[in-house]
Amino acid sequence: PGKKVLIVYAHQEPKSFNGSLLKIAVEELTKQGCSVTVSDLYAMQFEPRATRNDIVGHLHNSEAFNYGVETWEAYKRGGLSKDLVEEQKKVQEADLLIFQFPLFWFNMPAILKGWMDRVLVQGFAYDLSKACDGGLLQDKLSLFSFTTGGGQEMYSKQGIGGDIRYVLWPMQHGIMHFCGVKVLEPHICYAPENVSEEKRKEMLVAWTQRLKTLWKEKPIDCSPEWYFK
Ligand code: FAD
Ligand code: ZN
Repeated sequence: PGKKVLIVYAHQEPKSFNGSLLKIAVEELTKQGCSVTVSDLYAMQFEPRATRNDIVGHLHNSEAFNYGVETWEAYKRGGLSKDLVEEQKKVQEADLLIFQFPLFWFNMPAILKGWMDRVLVQGFAYDLSKACDGGLLQDKLSLFSFTTGGGQEMYSKQGIGGDIRYVLWPMQHGIMHFCGVKVLEPHICYAPENVSEEKRKEMLVAWTQRLKTLWKEKPIDCSPEWYFK
């Protein structure tokens, strides 16, 4: 109770399976007394492109544009665009970040990747000068909750997709761990389009059940072994 949760949601259709998973998370976490904020990226028409427009006012170096340098400098002088500042505030306040999305090309949808690219600015989310321990978003948890088209058997070491953990490496380790955020076990609903109505209901109940004891969970050991052993 009293915990703050930010759900970053990337699906176009509220009636989708992802929409149902979102609804469940909002309802269950609210019921627990958490305060829940949703960034509904398609509904917000969130800009996924990392461009000059993300910097308000003058550039640090107008001769040759460097997005990383410019956003870092803009962050320090309070010169990031309003939509980024708003998202950063939500991240800053959150104890838990949940990402809810359908798997697109073994990855997150572009609109969500754009959120990562633009919101997690140097100086705000990480600091390269702090060597390996440069993550600035300490004491936060993250959880990747997603759906697939392929079945679970496809995403095993021997399957044609390979272990699902391979696709989690860039998201959980490359982004969240890099920023100092701890990672909870992912929540994966395999092939909601291809299973029976009964199985779909079961998957939704399983998500509700998991959320009930979420705050008791320990983060994973987010090291290469977890992904590739
Ligand atoms: P939906 O089609 O919205 O939902 C499935 C079914 O659940 C629907 O019949 C819906 O009506 C029903 N439903 C919704 N709510 C409820 C409820 N409350 N109770 C019961 N039923 C309900 N897949 C891969 O595995 N790997 C990939 O690399 C990959 N790349 C892709 C790339 C692109 C560009 C696209 C478009 C798809 C890709 N896919 C891939 C497939 C994609 O991951 C799936 O289509 C997606 O995960 C399905 O989730 P959904 O929420 O869109 O399902
Ligand atoms: Zn890691």
